[in-house]
Amino acid sequence: MPSSTRHTTSPEQMAAARRSFAAVVGAQNLFFDAQDQEAYADAFAVDDNLHRPAGAIAPDTVEQIQAIVRIAAEHRIALWPISRGKNLGYGGSAPVLAGSVILDLSRMKKIEYDEENGTVLLEPGVGFYDLYDFLKARGLKHWLSTPGNSWGSVIGNALDRGVGYTPYGEHTTKLCGMEVVLADGTLVRTGMGALTNSPTWQLYRFGFGPAWDQMFVQSNFGIVTKAGLWLMPEPESLMGMDLEFDKPDDLGPLIDAIAPLRREGVLQQSPTIGNWLRAAAILTTRNEWTDQKGALSDAVIAAIRKKFQMGWWGVSLRLYGRETINREAYAILEREMNKLKPLSMKPTNWKRGDPLEMTGWTGTPITFPMQNANWHGGRGGHIGFSPVLPQSGSAAMAQFRRTYERYKEYGMDYQASFAFGERHLINVNAILLDKDDPAMMARVDPFIRALVADAKAQGYGEYRTHLDYMDLVASTYDFNDGALGKLNDRVKAALDPHGVIAPGKSGIGSVTRQAQAGEP
Ligand code: ADP
Repeated sequence: MPSSTRHTTSPEQMAAARRSFAAVVGAQNLFFDAQDQEAYADAFAVDDNLHRPAGAIAPDTVEQIQAIVRIAAEHRIALWPISRGKNLGYGGSAPVLAGSVILDLSRMKKIEYDEENGTVLLEPGVGFYDLYDFLKARGLKHWLSTPGNSWGSVIGNALDRGVGYTPYGEHTTKLCGMEVVLADGTLVRTGMGALTNSPTWQLYRFGFGPAWDQMFVQSNFGIVTKAGLWLMPEPESLMGMDLEFDKPDDLGPLIDAIAPLRREGVLQQSPTIGNWLRAAAILTTRNEWTDQKGALSDAVIAAIRKKFQMGWWGVSLRLYGRETINREAYAILEREMNKLKPLSMKPTNWKRGDPLEMTGWTGTPITFPMQNANWHGGRGGHIGFSPVLPQSGSAAMAQFRRTYERYKEYGMDYQASFAFGERHLINVNAILLDKDDPAMMARVDPFIRALVADAKAQGYGEYRTHLDYMDLVASTYDFNDGALGKLNDRVKAALDPHGVIAPGKSGIGSVTRQAQAGEP
């Protein structure tokens, strides 16, 4: 099983810290009973107990957060900041280290909107539904980019490099300017925000000198209390097509056809090629098809695909912006896709003023893709495995074949997608779990370790991972004896010598963590 280091705060230290925390936020904003611990643990994890926090504290001002980090340092408490804590498949609201205190920022919900420039300055508690309602009440002149689970926080998602479906779907690159509390309680604003009262904080990312925004992304170097985000102006037209392809081998040519269109900018949105189960798992459950354990047989796969008229792979392409430009670009997409002989091609066409369909394509909040966690029924869940690949059909086909064999070897149902970026592909595997099947659950850890090792052998690393695998994935980034990890550890030691903020996040700070645990 994945290892977890229990945090070594003594009960006396924790009791003293709780009294001080209560003086800062009020006892009603402390959550430390068994039910609270369970609520903030990771229900999707292989073993929920590995990441069970001591409790949670929910401040609603920057001053309270500053006081909390100082108390935590004094009593050697580890804090785990979350925005809304809906990071399902990667750990939800749970910390790497059991016994950490969750710093729940979901009560902080202020939104500042610069309508002319299309930017917002958000507090961490602002969810996708909140921001959507806010913009809708103002005429939806700007669209959101939402992930498949829109329960989460706009900032939290961007801070874990979550993605959405529109041209603004690479959320972390739309961040512009942050306000951050460091481990010693210092408040910093990045970029142009370092100028007192600058009107350009949300307009120019870099400021003067080093630009730090990405330093606070997927890291534990600070607690983000505000972040700027660029929004997409409402397009005049949204056109596109949904395509299905029949055979596993169609993947390579499809990638080689889409990649140049994406790099050239004909496609400004990043498409995702998903396999049939990615679509089927939200429409049906496994027990409607078979009671056989192990990976699904080809006959069952064929029956499911037939019923829902699905290809082995499906992809949706979308064009946003001026109608005249979209029409021209659509013709190009149609020509290129027809060369590949898809099973089906379904066009879609929306114009400003038409009713808006609630989908990821229109940046409206959605939750239905989460239904896939119910594929096995009972206590379902999923865990991610997501290596970054080059945009090459042959590389993707090799990755697919290698990984699919591993799924069969470990008796898992293959659910995966190949998600484009501008220059890369991410092979997102959402491994569907059946927590009521102990035999399957015992296979999950060796399965994931095999996948990580297979990817590493090709020089591929993951872009994001579950709490259980943060150290493992960090260790695959091993150039020059892990020089990057050591740099991260040195920054961590300089900024947060007591390991107050999210020890273990992204494998950073293992030196500090071992010292805390009393290990040499
Ligand atoms: P979401 O609700 O959108 O899924 P989360 O709140 O779960 O987002 O955040 C995802 C991860 O990002 C967290 O587990 C944490 O590691 C990090 N994170 C979230 N909010 C903050 C923050 N305000 N400051 C620093 N790190 C954060």
